[in-house]
Amino acid sequence: MQVVWRGADAFDEAAYGRVFNARKPERSPAAVAFPESDDDVIAAVRLARERSLQVSVRSGGHSWAGWSVRDDALLIDMARMRSIQYDPDSGIAVANPAIQGGHELAPFLEDHGRMFPGGHCASVGIGGFLLQGGQGWNSRHLGWACQSVVAIDVVTANGELVRADDSENSDLLWAARGAGPGFFGVVVRFHLRTYPKPHMVHDTWTFSMNDLEPLVEWMDDVLPTLERTVEPVIAASSLRDLPLRDGVERPDGPLLLLHTTAMSSDEADAARMLAPLDGCPIAERALFHERGPTSIAEENQAQVAQNPDGYRYAADCAWTNVGGAELAPLLRSMWSELDTEHSFSIWYGWAPTGDLPDMAFSVEGNVYVAAYAIWDDPERDAHYREWVHRRIGAIAASGEGVYLGDTDFTRRPDRFLSDANFARLQELRAKWDPDRLFCSYLIDPAATLNRPYGGTERIQ
Ligand SMILES: Cc1cc2nc3c(=O)[nH]c(=O)nc-3n(C[C@H](O)[C@H](O)[C@H](O)COP(=O)(O)OP(=O)(O)OC[C@H]3O[C@@H](n4cnc5c(N)ncnc54)[C@H](O)[C@@H]3O)c2cc1C
Repeated sequence: MQVVWRGADAFDEAAYGRVFNARKPERSPAAVAFPESDDDVIAAVRLARERSLQVSVRSGGHSWAGWSVRDDALLIDMARMRSIQYDPDSGIAVANPAIQGGHELAPFLEDHGRMFPGGHCASVGIGGFLLQGGQGWNSRHLGWACQSVVAIDVVTANGELVRADDSENSDLLWAARGAGPGFFGVVVRFHLRTYPKPHMVHDTWTFSMNDLEPLVEWMDDVLPTLERTVEPVIAASSLRDLPLRDGVERPDGPLLLLHTTAMSSDEADAARMLAPLDGCPIAERALFHERGPTSIAEENQAQVAQNPDGYRYAADCAWTNVGGAELAPLLRSMWSELDTEHSFSIWYGWAPTGDLPDMAFSVEGNVYVAAYAIWDDPERDAHYREWVHRRIGAIAASGEGVYLGDTDFTRRPDRFLSDANFARLQELRAKWDPDRLFCSYLIDPAATLNRPYGGTERIQ
């Protein structure tokens, strides 16, 4: 197994090369290990113990905050373990954690006529995605992607390989369904329940920013009427190639894209599910409208265009139950300040059913709001980081908490688990990782983990 120690020529590439965010962390691990087998992962965990190093783990490298890069830790980078298998009898797929949900898992399953609720962006690794919950395609219907993890193979803090499923080490599986970077083991394989490949239809509208308030309030009204296989997202985006009707001149600044997908066993049924959107009260003001077939591959491609490689990113999010009339002014303040071509922000109609199974993941709300500042000039780092957390903080002040996938607790800590589940997670960590070998959550040392954000805390 290759281990690259700090000071070696290859160290910077080993430590930072696979961090998706071009704004690389300022932290420096002691070494990076690249296991190629389960035995290598065990050896890496034992090496960390021998050298009294903490362990951090990287799968796809897509944590916006670069969680895998921790000061003086041994970083176990799973990049070189890349297998996916599918058993047609059980419908279970088994994949290593660095497998990319959209680029690798989705096309592999599609060849078998199957799908998994993988992430909306193709290059995200399934490791970090699944451990923190996983907001994937058709997740309003199929649940958080971690609910479709039936078992994991884990190298524990004492260097043993164990299986965790509903009957064996079930507490470890409970934690793996939502602990995110607070998980205390190295997952080497996920066993995933897959689903028949659906027919997918999209319904896409473009509006100008002038229509923000009626659009958000209408979506607030229509959301409870939508079937769970329908996923509505409003994105405020300045991308140059947003769809416009022939002859429409593109207004300056961000536009509003209402992009809704529906999945079903046949295309006509998926199209029927989108019928509630026919009642759009501002339809005559739309700059574009189209409904038609689409696919996970096409949708993933659009997400890649919105989240390009090589840019600097800052992200934050909030779950909120406030109504559209109260939310719209906060969205207007934030969305009218989106001032780079790629920066964008979403209103994602989630409308949870309130019946999450017993697992660590436990905080959600009616609407998911997230903002992604995307820029290229390092001189603007401080500006955009402050902006994204201040604007989302204004929504989070009356929110329910956050989703780990779009957070940076060194800037704005917030609640991500229920109090009971957070307490249980601490107990399980004490059981499985009593020496605190694994680095766990990255947070400002002066801040408190999993406390509701009151709106008055310092945003850094
Ligand atoms: C462009 C983009 C699009 C995104 N879209 C979505 C989306 O649609 N839905 C969604 O839910 N999220 C989305 N995210 C968020 C993403 O899911 C998280 O950032 C996730 O952590 C990325 O997983 P990763 O394995 O690529 O990241 P990594 O940075 O490799 O992992 C993040 C952390 O997870 C832990 N971890 C990872 N692998 C393991 C393992 N094998 N064992 C133990 N711990 C591990 C570690 O603490 C690690 O530091 C997106 C992120 C980006 C950058």
